[in-house]
Amino acid sequence: MKFVSLLGATGSIGRSAISILKSFPEEFRLFALSGWNNVERVAEYVRDFSPRYVVVKDKERAELLESLISGSCKILYGDRGLVEISVLQEVDTVVVAVSGISGLRPALAALRNGKQVLLSNKESMVAAGPLFEKYIAEDRVLPIDSEHSAIWQCLKGEDKKNLRNIILTASGGPFRGYSKESLSDVSVEDTLRHPTWRMGKKITVDSATLANKALEVMEARWIFGIDYGHIRVMVHPQSIVHGMVEFEDGSVKMLAGVTDMRLPIHYALFYPKRMKVADRLYLKLEGILSFEEPDVESFPMLSLGYDVGKRGGLLPAAFIGADELAVRAFLEGRIGFLEVFEVVRGTIERMWDEDGDVSEGAVISMVERAYRVAEDIVVKGDF
Ligand code: NDP
Ligand code: MG
Repeated sequence: MKFVSLLGATGSIGRSAISILKSFPEEFRLFALSGWNNVERVAEYVRDFSPRYVVVKDKERAELLESLISGSCKILYGDRGLVEISVLQEVDTVVVAVSGISGLRPALAALRNGKQVLLSNKESMVAAGPLFEKYIAEDRVLPIDSEHSAIWQCLKGEDKKNLRNIILTASGGPFRGYSKESLSDVSVEDTLRHPTWRMGKKITVDSATLANKALEVMEARWIFGIDYGHIRVMVHPQSIVHGMVEFEDGSVKMLAGVTDMRLPIHYALFYPKRMKVADRLYLKLEGILSFEEPDVESFPMLSLGYDVGKRGGLLPAAFIGADELAVRAFLEGRIGFLEVFEVVRGTIERMWDEDGDVSEGAVISMVERAYRVAEDIVVKGDF
């Protein structure tokens, strides 16, 4: 039996992970979990799973949680609580499914303490890739982003020296085919209507701007140890093929599956075994599969992501902070859709020459600083 700590249990990925853990009580013991604001859902999980530890955002929520549950569960709060449940002696598998850079410290703490980390929190890998390299080489960081899981599965049994390119697919989001002009007045509601995936709000907006794909390109750089020149993106509106690998002999391996994050989570949880899924998640193989080049005129975020990734150092952390703020400002109605890109670009331009060694502290402070620079751009309307 695997003892699991699940960070971000109340989110979109967290809930998918919870449904798998619930279906396999003989295989997994949910020993610790975190929510953040959603105390009611944490209380529900405590009743269902009897974890030994839970974490919420702050003291106030910890007290509220205490009033909702009875029993012997230890209630912790804040970032320290997240790190604490990532290094518990009893736990062997830590699933990091929180959003934002708050996933970084717990993920690295878990790895330093010998745990297997299932990482959906792409921000930490993008911002601090070099700090994960050693653990990736030890096969202890398992991706639960659908594209990376697909590529990882395509690479199994292959010699990496025969690899020519990896190809991440993108649905193209709700505005595929739109010209730049027609993107100027799209609403928040339209942006949140993703054609193929149901996800948290931040990543749904990122999918519409292609910032999510930019982040995934940077994530792939570290997970697969491959240069940017060999990482490609193809728009595939059906979202059936999640990732591809092109080999030197010209063959291309693709991995297909339903658009349900339980699939990559399931694969990572049982890795290296493949298990029968509890519900039917089988793909209906009919219809047309199409692939096209991304439109970088209307969606320049992708090219910016490549530039930022190639520049490296602490700049990807600035991209994370700027995008976080820009998406928030868009969701609050303070800026329009096209300005999300302008805010990120403006922040990156202002911070381009800043440099320094990649360490946990430096990365987190870069994210925070970029967040403030981006906020300043929004407030002054100085795109
Ligand atoms: P959600 O917004 O749905 O969930 C975020 C989770 O993190 C919730 O449990 C939330 O708690 C918690 N949380 C929020 N802020 C903090 C914080 N500052 N510190 C600690 N915990 C916090 O996001 P998703 O599930 O969509 O995404 C999670 C991560 O997985 C992201 O990095 C995303 O990029 C990545 N990902 C998501 C995919 C998807 O399909 N959704 C696909 C691939 C990757 P609460 O709700 O209680 O406030
Ligand atoms: Mg993805």
